Amino acid sequence: ADLTQLNWNKAPCRFCGTGCSIMVATKGGRVVATHGDSKSEVNRGLNCVKGYFLSKIMYGEDRLTTPLLRKKDGQYHKDGTFEPVSWDEAFDIMAEKWKKTLAEKGPKGIGMFGSGQWTIYEGYAAVKLMKAGFLSNNIDPNARHCMASAVAGFMRTFGIDEPMGCYDDFEAADAFVLWGSNMAEMHPILWTRVTDRRFAHPHVKVAVLSTFTHRSFDLADIPVIFKPQSDLAILNYIANYIIQNGAVNEAFLKEHVNFKRGATDIGYGLRPEDPREVNAANAKDPTVSEPMSFEEFAAFVSEYTVEKAEEISGVPAEQLEALAKLYADPNVKVMSLWTMGFNQHTRGVWANNLVYNIHLLTGKISTPGNSPFSLTGQPSACGTAREVGTFSHRLPADMVVTNPDHRAHTEELWKLPKGILPDWLGSHAVKQNRDLKDGKINCYWVQVTNNMQAGPNMMQEGLPGYRNPDNFIVVSDAYPTVTCEAADLVLPSAMWVEKEGGYGNAERRTQLWHQLVNAPGEARSDLWQLVEFSKRFTTDEVWPAEMLAANPEYKGKTLFEVLFANGQVDRFGPADLAEGFANPESEALGFYLQKGLFEEYASFGRGHGHDLAPFDTYHEVRGLRWPVVNGEETRWRFNAEHDPYVKNGKPFHFYGNKDGRANIFALPYEPPAESPDAEYPFWLSTGRVLEHWHSGSMTQRVPELYQAVPDALCYMHPDDAEALNLRRGSEVRVISRRGEIRVRVETRGRNKPPKGLVFVPWFDARRLINKVTLDATDPISKQADFKKCAIRIEAV
Ligand code: SF4
Repeated sequence: ADLTQLNWNKAPCRFCGTGCSIMVATKGGRVVATHGDSKSEVNRGLNCVKGYFLSKIMYGEDRLTTPLLRKKDGQYHKDGTFEPVSWDEAFDIMAEKWKKTLAEKGPKGIGMFGSGQWTIYEGYAAVKLMKAGFLSNNIDPNARHCMASAVAGFMRTFGIDEPMGCYDDFEAADAFVLWGSNMAEMHPILWTRVTDRRFAHPHVKVAVLSTFTHRSFDLADIPVIFKPQSDLAILNYIANYIIQNGAVNEAFLKEHVNFKRGATDIGYGLRPEDPREVNAANAKDPTVSEPMSFEEFAAFVSEYTVEKAEEISGVPAEQLEALAKLYADPNVKVMSLWTMGFNQHTRGVWANNLVYNIHLLTGKISTPGNSPFSLTGQPSACGTAREVGTFSHRLPADMVVTNPDHRAHTEELWKLPKGILPDWLGSHAVKQNRDLKDGKINCYWVQVTNNMQAGPNMMQEGLPGYRNPDNFIVVSDAYPTVTCEAADLVLPSAMWVEKEGGYGNAERRTQLWHQLVNAPGEARSDLWQLVEFSKRFTTDEVWPAEMLAANPEYKGKTLFEVLFANGQVDRFGPADLAEGFANPESEALGFYLQKGLFEEYASFGRGHGHDLAPFDTYHEVRGLRWPVVNGEETRWRFNAEHDPYVKNGKPFHFYGNKDGRANIFALPYEPPAESPDAEYPFWLSTGRVLEHWHSGSMTQRVPELYQAVPDALCYMHPDDAEALNLRRGSEVRVISRRGEIRVRVETRGRNKPPKGLVFVPWFDARRLINKVTLDATDPISKQADFKKCAIRIEAV
């Protein structure tokens, strides 16, 4: 091939939260090659196997290229078959359904489910359309299944979201502790940095904790298999060990830390509003946090002796002590890493708080190599789901809908009438399914996510709502998925470099890219879809009459004019922005809109600890870690040597909290929501595999990735298989109280569960393991626990 004819540009990887930069070659309107970007600090020219095949994800044979509506006899019908329709017909029926529901039920009757895979612009536009346009807070991202516990953990301990450290910690730490994270498969490029550090520096130690052995254990100096949920007890034991062995950093505690007992309500009510949400034990959660002394905290954790931790966790005492010594040794810089093991947990918020406890007790935080680090799953879990406020309880820049000052500030920046933003907590992901099933939400739009495959207990709690005859379900996606199959209207979406985009990765790095090729057929970006839909509504149809009477200048305007062409967003655009963007062939004109959306969004954080660089800067660099002040990114927040927001004259300042201090919480071990018993004697854990991204809708269309791992398997211990008279390759039924699937047994391979536990990945649409999983949620974060429930195995 004549490489000189290729056009190379940069873009962040479409998949995980690592945020690798990719060089993308286009030729003749197609992406023809990709390779790792050697100018990227994140991946230094490397990709994982998913990244290497990025050039193929857009070219599966069954790309959706036209809107599809269920019809019978030429009319929309819930039980009709999908027929191609124009965008006009699609938006017409959507608008009709939305208007009817808004008139009958008000804003609570509609809902939206989005994604940490939305671009920053798409998530921001979706929040504006739902919260400021339709006045509904019923919007939530799939990050509720992924990062909600991490968010609540940050807010409770530090009063501000996202990690204080960064990837530079990988080259400075003396010990890495993986709390339920399988980085070797889920964050493979970051794992190369851990591996490099470990092999180049013999003193470096790696501890890997999990409920089963996986690939990351290959590097483990301290391999720890613990009983599901017992991480809470291990974390409290480590805190106790630190105190008992005089390893507390007293000067740090005196200057920078509060001790508290119980929970802090961060805006999402602690009390479950729906009795199906939690197990009975969760109801013990106190609603108000109270100050406590160090001595009281020490007394609280003193019951977590090594004997008690060993009994609860099943981990030998010597392993627990080896782990605790890493944290207690003042000469060892420790990086703690976690993802879904902590977050998908009925006490996921507590698990996050407890790991911060041990870093704060020792002062091992916010300095190079000392880093409690919450890894993210999706490419923009941070940049989009969290930072622009797509959660049902949030507004941009860590603000929440229940705070009147936050609403007023948002109304000012969005140039809205005072008092218009709704103050009620919207339904979160799991509750949205229940609202659909119960007929409380009747119109629902799903973008960039495959929740019928990804959500917990979806056949009992999800599918009935989608197929409820009173409900109208719209799904935007690039490929047909099981979620599309359950919909009434399917909209074809552009993906990755078929549109302008921006993502924010796990280390606060914001990265933007340009559209490089056109989407096939009629496929359009989710942003285009949101903006076009906004033109179908006037304020008179969706805003209260008294609000318009008091603010007549808004009367009769379309939501597009109020939200996206109001002189704020379109200040970079050509005069005919509205007309140009209305033309589906002129996606590129959307560039101006996106620049406006980005700069408007950036205005929320500038001067408030979340400063972003100008839009154009991000197209020149390989991302920058916010806060970006005077052109300089910030590597370690809260540290006076690195963070321009530390202004208290002390070495550290946890400025997210009003008193400048971080919180240590006294939080107990609590049993899981469901445990094995005589009828369901096995634990089930679910998760991902290296080769496939989430539900596999993209990676299973890449022949090389499909062939590498075509099927989800049920990994189990050989002794368990033998006891059930099963062999490797036997087909079994995995059965829980909620549903069952058929899958083949694997007794060797990359995952090696202990006796009594099985692991089944969820990428395979032919084996929907989330028919089986439990939808109990953490009472604070509302995140479901996909890592543990009780099942039985039967031979087919
Ligand atoms: Fe990097 Fe993650 Fe993409 Fe792999 S999937 S190339 S680790 S961003």
